[in-house]
Amino acid sequence: MSRLYEDLTAPEIATEISSSSILVLPVGAVEQHGPHLPLSVDHVIAHETATAVVDECGDELDVWQLPAMSISKSNEHAWSSGTLSLSAETLMAVLRDIGRSIAPTGAKRLVLLNGHGGNTTLLATALRELRLEFGLMTFLMHPALPPAYGGSSTESELGMGIHGGLDETSVFMHLRPDQVRLDRAARQVPESLERNTHVKFGGSVSFGWLSNDFNPDGYIGDPTGATAERGKQLFEQSIAALSEAMEEVKVFDFGR
Ligand SMILES: [Zn+2]
Repeated sequence: MSRLYEDLTAPEIATEISSSSILVLPVGAVEQHGPHLPLSVDHVIAHETATAVVDECGDELDVWQLPAMSISKSNEHAWSSGTLSLSAETLMAVLRDIGRSIAPTGAKRLVLLNGHGGNTTLLATALRELRLEFGLMTFLMHPALPPAYGGSSTESELGMGIHGGLDETSVFMHLRPDQVRLDRAARQVPESLERNTHVKFGGSVSFGWLSNDFNPDGYIGDPTGATAERGKQLFEQSIAALSEAMEEVKVFDFGR
């Protein structure tokens, strides 16, 4: 049986979706990823991850996959041709409209599965807005937690593989092997940031940035050693971790 929300008929919403269902909204992006990757990376990773997680645990946990949002807030890449971006105000308004649309289905739990680090703070804000306005229980997951928000990246990248770096490039090589041009990639790590104790990615002091602040190519990390094998391993680890997390989402009750 399909677990795609859009494959249901309208009358089936009442019989298939209930207060114990979990709806998953994949949130991608279409934005520059340097010369070695296509614009689609975050969209493809969000969509493929959601599909694999729903395949893994959808029947058991009553999870339904909403159509992916391909375009989101990518204005740190607005300087680059190719990037398609919504403003923060527009993305928040769209999420609010989706929350309003979901509320009457009877589903109580909505998971945002976010493939684009540039959305993270806004989506975290949206969790509370949707909770307050529509009574939804809201959750934010990432295929991999972005390094700027406490996630890890490799030592050779000094923890700064935040965009088009080793892990993201590897995962994309696993998913779309024909679309990676590794011969065009180089190491692009803003080394001097490593000397800072506070003002750095994931540090105690955050800073506003655009992706061409660090170098004109707009990717940050070292994709040169990327392999599909590494990507497969990372992807499978991610699916296992997110499926396990989904079990906690299923029963989460604020500790009451
Ligand atoms: Zn990306």
